[in-house]
Amino acid sequence: MMRAAGVLLAPFVVAAPAPVPDRAAERAAMVLEIENLAATAGCVEVRRIDRSVLTAMRAVPRHLFVPQAVRASAYRSEPLPIGHAQTISQPFIVAAMTHLLQVAPGQRILEIGTGSGYQAAVLGQMGAEVRTIEIVEPLAREAAERLRTLGYGKVRVRAGDGYAGWPEEAPFDRIIVTAGAPHLPQPLVDQLKPGGRMVIPIAARGGGGEELVIVTKDRRGRVRKRALLPVRFVPLTRSRG
Ligand code: SAH
Repeated sequence: MMRAAGVLLAPFVVAAPAPVPDRAAERAAMVLEIENLAATAGCVEVRRIDRSVLTAMRAVPRHLFVPQAVRASAYRSEPLPIGHAQTISQPFIVAAMTHLLQVAPGQRILEIGTGSGYQAAVLGQMGAEVRTIEIVEPLAREAAERLRTLGYGKVRVRAGDGYAGWPEEAPFDRIIVTAGAPHLPQPLVDQLKPGGRMVIPIAARGGGGEELVIVTKDRRGRVRKRALLPVRFVPLTRSRG
């Protein structure tokens, strides 16, 4: 039998590592700011962000989704660079899009534009079954690894062109596109369930930027589009060939 007291005592002798700050207070402040921005937004549909969205965003450690160099700014009300000329959206935009998506636990959700994996983590935190596609391969790899490490291992990440959706995993209850599309991709419409809903930034006519569009498909398969608010996203790019 091994009962060496010295071995048991060892942990008390070495210096304890500095506690990792979890920055919960900053997340709570971020959520308050989201609620304030929503209350004064030009668009009535986002005036009261659903509690389930705010609860999820209070839980997901946004600072662990951004590069070390901008980590201090992780909870500020702004988009941040995540490398490869891409950005993680401003917290309010993540909240507004997630709210407009009308997420419920168990829904099958497809995201186009994984980026850091933050939006996917918020959806996973809300109990959805998340599939996400990222066209920049290193970003896809890093996001998959990060999601696994942080306990969102159920989110499935794929590297590829999201314009074509993910036919093998379709149909989806919800689809969220987090890059600015030139038009509504037909494959995504096809992969939406009847009764389903999509949130997508689509290039605004005559001008820079996009408008955030809600696409719904009713039980009979009829598709409706409604533009809600002006937004600005990095472009949805296409793979060649
Ligand atoms: N949702 C992300 C931020 C998205 S930024 C987050 O939470 O961090 C937009 C992302 O869309 C970028 O990473 C970009 O590389 C990706 N993207 C652009 N075009 C794409 C396409 N056709 N298919 C999949 N991803 C695409």
